[in-house]
Amino acid sequence: GKYVWNGERLLNRAEASVDVEDRGHTFGDGIYEVFRVYGGKTFEPELHWARFERSARELRIELPLPIAELERGVEELIEADGLAEGIVYLQLTRGAAPRAHPFPAEARPALTAFAKPLERPLSALESGTSVITRPDIRWLRCDIKSLNLLPNVLAKQEASEAGASEAVLHRDGVVTEGSSSNIAIAKDGVVRTHPANNLILHGVTRAVALRLAAELDIRVNEEPFTLDELYAADEAFLLGTTVEVMPIVRVDGRTVANGVPGPIARKLQAAFAKRI
Ligand code: PLP
Repeated sequence: GKYVWNGERLLNRAEASVDVEDRGHTFGDGIYEVFRVYGGKTFEPELHWARFERSARELRIELPLPIAELERGVEELIEADGLAEGIVYLQLTRGAAPRAHPFPAEARPALTAFAKPLERPLSALESGTSVITRPDIRWLRCDIKSLNLLPNVLAKQEASEAGASEAVLHRDGVVTEGSSSNIAIAKDGVVRTHPANNLILHGVTRAVALRLAAELDIRVNEEPFTLDELYAADEAFLLGTTVEVMPIVRVDGRTVANGVPGPIARKLQAAFAKRI
């Protein structure tokens, strides 16, 4: 969009700048959130703010403003940009200081936020998508939404090069999540998804989908599943802020079940659409 919010005011994007020794820039020492905006309003803001607060706490980065004021800033950004459908990217770093690994005493956490128009992926939601699988080479605190996304970027690039939309990650054959989404399968009417521990990001869409599943009397088992169970699933779907509830119809070139989105994915999609 046209504006960047820095926690104090809205700047024209061309006038916004980042210090070359900002620790986000030099160390990836920071966190972020991506909010979905539907009809000019953030979707499930409480869950995103709670996660943002938690990520900051885990990395011992102080919030520059109370959540209520951060929320107001994001709303003003959406308003100024005239954003109806899209996302807001919000980032907080430990701030700028002469480069040295320990936390600097003097740095002030640096906030940046911008908005971006984005349409819902309606045709892929209808037809389903293809994914590949790759080893999960990330660290052991994937629950923190940190700026360090190199393993995710490399995996997503491999997916793109393979003509797939996502790389599903696994640790020694145990599926964790996608490079920018969570994943669930369904087998014999039961949904399975990795538990929300240190090995996955606790996705907002995942949490919403589990809530919807409970309302729909769909059984859910928050237990890890293997690559073989993914290949043999009746259904599989990605869960994420931009992909929503995205049916997976192909994994590593093999079709999932009969290669069309299944009934549980369809029910969750319908319930999800009502919440938008
Ligand atoms: N897992 C990873 C690694 C992510 O980057 C994301 C973010 O999009 C998700 C899962 C899904 O989380 P959310 O539903 O909050 O967007």
